[in-house]
Amino acid sequence: MEEIKQIICQAEDKIAKWAEEISDYIYNNPELSDEEYKSSAYLVKKLRSIGFNVTYPYLGFDTSFKAEYCSDNEHNGKTVAFLAEYDALPGYGDAHNKTAHACGHNWIAGSTMAAARSLKDISRYFNGKIILFGTQSEEKTGSKVNFAELGAFDNIDAVLQMHLGRVNCVDTTAMAMTDYTFEFYGRAAHAAKEPENGINALDACHLAIAGINAMRQQFGPDVKIHEVITNGGQSPNIIPEYASMWIFVRATDKNILEKAAERIVNIGKGASLMTGAQFRYKRAKNTFYDIKRNEKLNSLMKANLAELGITRLEEGDKYHCESTDIGNVSYRCPVCYTTLGTSHISDAGIHEQGFIDVAGSDEAKKLMHIAAKAMAMTALDVL
Ligand SMILES: [Zn+2]
Ligand SMILES: [Zn+2]
Repeated sequence: MEEIKQIICQAEDKIAKWAEEISDYIYNNPELSDEEYKSSAYLVKKLRSIGFNVTYPYLGFDTSFKAEYCSDNEHNGKTVAFLAEYDALPGYGDAHNKTAHACGHNWIAGSTMAAARSLKDISRYFNGKIILFGTQSEEKTGSKVNFAELGAFDNIDAVLQMHLGRVNCVDTTAMAMTDYTFEFYGRAAHAAKEPENGINALDACHLAIAGINAMRQQFGPDVKIHEVITNGGQSPNIIPEYASMWIFVRATDKNILEKAAERIVNIGKGASLMTGAQFRYKRAKNTFYDIKRNEKLNSLMKANLAELGITRLEEGDKYHCESTDIGNVSYRCPVCYTTLGTSHISDAGIHEQGFIDVAGSDEAKKLMHIAAKAMAMTALDVL
């Protein structure tokens, strides 16, 4: 096994330039979520040219794909899948109008492509199947939620992905998450002359926020809620006839999330009853789940990272983390989701302007090769 792992590392070294070109191409052609036409077509072309069998588009999503390579015709072996991402974020640059790779998804595309190709190049050493999913729109709708619901991850033995982050962490956590829009419909009136004739929709928002604040104590640190008022009226001298809010609800697991979500809706109904404003709400289509850890897979990954010189790992913290659609994958099959730390490159965190430079840097490319090697080695353990 040690010998085969050396061979996979050499295979990754041989394709280093190929992988770096992929990361650079995605980086230099940033596309927003659900609009990754160039990026997905580019990745698919690369995969077809090295002998992967590609379904594109996949599951009804224009910019998604599934690329497969089987080392044995009967496919008696295991199946390992990698998840590529390639959507960028809006609003960067001096004028806040530039789309850019501030989350490093170009790096995820490069590292997963390199892992999949390295395995394919040494496929005489194992029986099994390698899949590379092109999972579009991580930043917006979270297509992995749809993939999971549609059965894409059923019968897969392991899913591997890495992300750049502040620290190295294999036991990564993520909070389950959903979001709501609240709309309150009242009646306008002159705010001084005859306020009694109005129904104040903004009051309903204030009361909903008061309800949310009271609720926080009852759930403790397992639930995080953050909200903004997206429309609070037009002018102080008019009783607002319309007001709206946007609320994110996160919880350390998906069952706690559902309890909190039920309460959030009741708070909206209560605010409506208290003010007389009509209440309408909408919940996000996709609910993100927390990450279910797979200790066995994680321990394999830790050992392989140690071989590659990464020994300092942080423990995942369920109270200080964000949410991601890979959580839903972890409820369908074993998942190992690792972050590799960039604090030696820059202080900037993901989604910050400064992180755009990190995502395209030579230092990030060094980490990309470590990521590709560690994922390929862990895939070999599974296969
Ligand atoms: Zn992001
Ligand atoms: Zn990301």
